[in-house]
Amino acid sequence: MSEPAKPSQANIDKMWSYARKYAEKSGTSLHPDVGVTETVVEGLARHIEQVGRPLCPCNFYPDPQAEAKLRRWICACDEMQKWKYCHCLLFVAPDGRPITEHLPEDHEGRAAYGVVKDPHPDKGRATARVLERQKTEGAGE
Ligand code: SF4
Repeated sequence: MSEPAKPSQANIDKMWSYARKYAEKSGTSLHPDVGVTETVVEGLARHIEQVGRPLCPCNFYPDPQAEAKLRRWICACDEMQKWKYCHCLLFVAPDGRPITEHLPEDHEGRAAYGVVKDPHPDKGRATARVLERQKTEGAGE
């Protein structure tokens, strides 16, 4: 089988810049092994070229175009925004393990990695915060 075409350097650079900024914003680290980050960044850049959006490169999609419209696996995906969990290992704890502290107990990430603490619980999880606020506001009605 032939290797998939390498994405353009411009899209690779764009996704590197995104990864650095989002790690900072979410209080996560890029993987200590730069090769891991390179692979994920290239996968995201390839999806920009294939479907126009940075779709998560670590899943299989029967129809990538249709999946891109659903948004749930556009980086940063729903799991990252809600639980700060990145199964691609793009956004991780400083030791390279994915943050699993906020995951539901029956999530596969908990079975695979146990509880990995969030080093910066004050950052990231934008969606979770919105949901929690809505719940609190709703409770007062
Ligand atoms: S798991 Fe989510 S946050 Fe991690 S690379 Fe994939 S889409 Fe991005």
